[in-house]
Amino acid sequence: MDLLTLKQECVNCTRCGLAKTRTNVVFGTGVANAEVMFVGEGPGQSEDEQGLPFVGRSGQLLDCYLQTIGLCRDKNIFIANIVKCRPPNNRDPLAEEWDACLPWLREQFRIIQPKIVVCLGRIAAQRMIRPDFSVSKEHGTWTEKNGVLFTATLHPAALLRSPQRKPEAFEDFVAIREKIHEVCTHTY
Ligand code: SF4
Repeated sequence: MDLLTLKQECVNCTRCGLAKTRTNVVFGTGVANAEVMFVGEGPGQSEDEQGLPFVGRSGQLLDCYLQTIGLCRDKNIFIANIVKCRPPNNRDPLAEEWDACLPWLREQFRIIQPKIVVCLGRIAAQRMIRPDFSVSKEHGTWTEKNGVLFTATLHPAALLRSPQRKPEAFEDFVAIREKIHEVCTHTY
């Protein structure tokens, strides 16, 4: 199955209760041959309205960091969330919603086959790297799983709330650029 076919199936998904309250499924955005994937927790209000991940103010901040290291969601990366539909009133997704939605992300991984996965924020890091991962203390560290390198950085929404931490996030992105040059084959 290719990414477009997967998207067509995903946007009609009714596997969990969030199908009833969402405006749009936020499948993810980017290129199918991306060597770097960014993964967040789930859509917020703007994402739900537009059907795109990381839009609004936090998305703009993310795009700034991406641009600084030569990455762009239209050219060389893929951005997705673990849960594809917005929980009502931005509550945390329920366990059954995580479980129902995770196969979509797994299928995205299978098709895209990223070499580097960057978790955006605590929840994504704890789901993708380690349940007790502290994004506050361990952001910027690297973990290899089945030949894929995982790292995490602070969520852009958290940086908007705590702008004094922006330099730490910038260091993470610089390290991501170095890792890309080390392990990726595309020209970045
Ligand atoms: S959250 Fe995931 S599993 Fe639930 S309806 Fe949306 S796409 Fe389907």
